[in-house]
Amino acid sequence: MTVKTDIRYPTDQCIKCTICVEHCPVVKVTEKFLGPKQVGPDFQRFRSEGDEPHDASVEYCTGCRICDIVCPSGVNISELNTRAKIALRAARGIPVRDRLLSHAYMFGDLASFAAPAANAFLKLRPFRWMSDKILHLEKDVKYPSYSKQPFEKWIRESYHFESDKKVAYFFGCFTNNNDPSLGRAVVRVLERNGYQAVFPKQDCCGLPLLGNGDVRGARKLAKKNLEGLLRAADDGLDIIYSSTSCGMMIRDDYETYLDLPEAAALFDRMKEVSEFLWGLYEAGELDTDFEPVDLSIPYHVPCHLRSLGIGLPALDLLGLIPELHVEELETYCCGLAGTYGFKSEKYDISLAIGRELERELGRFDGPYALSDCEACRMQIENLSSKKGLHPIFILQRAYGLDAAEEEPDTASEQR
Ligand code: SF4
Ligand code: SF4
Ligand code: SF4
Repeated sequence: MTVKTDIRYPTDQCIKCTICVEHCPVVKVTEKFLGPKQVGPDFQRFRSEGDEPHDASVEYCTGCRICDIVCPSGVNISELNTRAKIALRAARGIPVRDRLLSHAYMFGDLASFAAPAANAFLKLRPFRWMSDKILHLEKDVKYPSYSKQPFEKWIRESYHFESDKKVAYFFGCFTNNNDPSLGRAVVRVLERNGYQAVFPKQDCCGLPLLGNGDVRGARKLAKKNLEGLLRAADDGLDIIYSSTSCGMMIRDDYETYLDLPEAAALFDRMKEVSEFLWGLYEAGELDTDFEPVDLSIPYHVPCHLRSLGIGLPALDLLGLIPELHVEELETYCCGLAGTYGFKSEKYDISLAIGRELERELGRFDGPYALSDCEACRMQIENLSSKKGLHPIFILQRAYGLDAAEEEPDTASEQR
């Protein structure tokens, strides 16, 4: 397929206010990145189809999309950057390390089958050292641990709830292999509200492939996912997701980057899980018989949730729980940004971006911090001794549904 890079964006709309530069988390911590204004609209004027981009600094953009949110002129800066990155990779090739990182979903079943031995292997210092030396995979980063019982296996063996009220659930590869307790919490909370979850055939959404410039690979996965998702939408079902990154990729990026106009039919059907539950509340259909939860918890809002433009539905929902105090942190990008923080040359930048989050987390004594994105939860566990939790776990507790549940899976490897 042809990758469209010669797009005529409203670069002339840029009024050079530099607001995007002020807010860019990467510019704040390194000079290696020239910044959203320069790499975005400024350089775009000189790019043309087929030319190798001359601005390799674009590789340091994390894709957090904060620049798009703050730009007063509506310049789609992150899209310019993503397309420039794709063109760069098309011209120079995709490094083996990035191919491996973006295909991690393929090893998930094997790693789960071999857990906990696979988790122990990933922690071995000689393995880490070799990966760093040969592939430039950062030796000090914490890898996510794999669960012995993937979510799909639990569905097959243990999920039997049936109801006339149904909702489709795209749980994503991280929930499946690394954090299946999140999937179980989602379906229990749905069940409490009378909803049966159905599971369209699904694979990785393709975001790591797109982020590493493999448009062809991302499109292949997207087409597989779309089969089941479009069928669910045709059946009139809402489609929920519990990872803001999965949701953003399917709802927005399939159409924008992968030349899949049919994905537009999903736009109104895709609902972040808290957004869906808040919709039930507004319709007077949410079970609000919550037990008090006496906790004070910080909440880090994922960049991709901000980019979805659906407000902060988890905060709205958690506000219904007696005695619970949740504080939205004054933080933006956590710095991990998918596979970005796993790369040796970007690891220090990732940590430097995360310092703001680390400082904010330090204001709280409790053992938990909330975020709706798995990468943010991993970074929370990288930067602090807190366990990163998806907000749905607090709802599960408030419903008294966590009694049968073991401690939620940890996003990253145990310290
Ligand atoms: S997407 Fe994020 S990292 Fe990239 S230019 Fe925009 S604000 Fe900076
Ligand atoms: S915020 Fe928008 S208008 Fe201002 S410099 Fe950045 S791209 Fe240009
Ligand atoms: S965004 Fe979701 S489906 Fe895509 S790689 Fe991450 S967890 Fe997997």
